[in-house]
Amino acid sequence: MSFLLPDLLYSGCALHPALAVQIAGDRVGRVVPAAQLPAGAVVERLPGRALLPGFVNAHSHAFQRGLRGHVQYASGPGPTSAPGPSGGGSSRPAFADSFWTWRDRMYRLANALDPDGVEAVSALAFLEMARAGFTTVGEFHYLHHAPDGARYADPDELALRVVAAAETVGIRIVLLRVAYARAGAGLDPNPLQRRFYDRGPDDVLAALARLRARGVAVGLAPHSVRACPADWLTALAAFDGPVHAHVDEQPAEIAASLHEHGRRPLQVFADAGLLGPRFTAVHLTHPDDDELALLRAAGGRVCVCPTTELDLGDGLFPLDRAAGIELCIGSDSHALIDPFTELRSIEWHARAATGRRNVMGPFEHPDGSANALLHAGTRGGALALGVDAGTLAPGTLADLVAVDIADVALRGARLLPALVFSGHPGLVTDVWVGGRRIVAGRHHLGSEAIVGAAERALEKAGG
Ligand SMILES: [Zn+2]
Repeated sequence: MSFLLPDLLYSGCALHPALAVQIAGDRVGRVVPAAQLPAGAVVERLPGRALLPGFVNAHSHAFQRGLRGHVQYASGPGPTSAPGPSGGGSSRPAFADSFWTWRDRMYRLANALDPDGVEAVSALAFLEMARAGFTTVGEFHYLHHAPDGARYADPDELALRVVAAAETVGIRIVLLRVAYARAGAGLDPNPLQRRFYDRGPDDVLAALARLRARGVAVGLAPHSVRACPADWLTALAAFDGPVHAHVDEQPAEIAASLHEHGRRPLQVFADAGLLGPRFTAVHLTHPDDDELALLRAAGGRVCVCPTTELDLGDGLFPLDRAAGIELCIGSDSHALIDPFTELRSIEWHARAATGRRNVMGPFEHPDGSANALLHAGTRGGALALGVDAGTLAPGTLADLVAVDIADVALRGARLLPALVFSGHPGLVTDVWVGGRRIVAGRHHLGSEAIVGAAERALEKAGG
């Protein structure tokens, strides 16, 4: 029997001293007081450490890690424009850098990576996630084909490359296989999107079945109402697993949905039969109150990606109007990879938008907001991905992180709120996924090889 004995262990919404947790294969075994450890137990002491459930990154496009630092200047309008009747090229000011110009540059990277490059850059993103304390990633995967749209000999080549990258790092992955039909309602196919296009919803369902048969944990990701027409969404509702979709990220996509369907995006997903406890709305940056009520009633979730939503100029998630809706986090475009910053930013954005403090609640306990945010960053994400992790409850997957509570950032502080509101990835010393330690003493054994391969791939891609 193997136990970990940190100075503090997060259990039942509090940090407790003198508790040991058993690792039983890939699962959490018992949590026992240190004084009651069984005779003969193998105990690893973790002095100066608090042990928490691993963070869950519920929304990632791993290859976009290759954009870092390359999209922080305005480079002029690209070849495509915003979808729909508003926000198109002609209606923009002479030139304003925006989500849509960023997207053009992201597409250029997406088309420059060969399969080795996709795998290498994905591994770099996953390595950084693991070092930051993420133990599971939901990879919203839409690179399916060769740049000219040709199918690879194995049609799931790139999905399997991304899964292989996760295996190289040791992070748990749920492959959210994207369905992508079109550039937008009434728009010609965009040559920069040829790698994404599926032939029909049956192709998507078949890919999901093939991946599952190969042992890959999967979810369905109808990209957005912009990229999937209503008849595709209805057909895709036959899938039996987690469903994630971009919703209300940009005002232009809402305008396009109203123009095509006479309804806002979340209503379109609901009409297709996709809304329910298995549904996660990624972003939901510009919902109206009816959409929030619809999601709340359906038991669906929101994956907030605060740093990307700031970086892309998407806007701020309206936390103050979202009471009763479960949240999770994603680092999305990987402008940075830091679960602590994602979590506190949900709250801080709401403070900036409303002029109030501690918007998240519950309000009556000094650790209330921190606990609610930690829940979103751990169990909330795990449930959104259909993974039994994100808690140290016996029987759940043994995905754990140890943080350095002797760090100067936490000294003299009330620890739990300080972890969430002042923590940083440098605090993470050790990471276990399914009971296997993948980061030890702030070091991942594969770091050098993974970083080297990614740098070579990005150089080759013209990065
Ligand atoms: Zn996304």
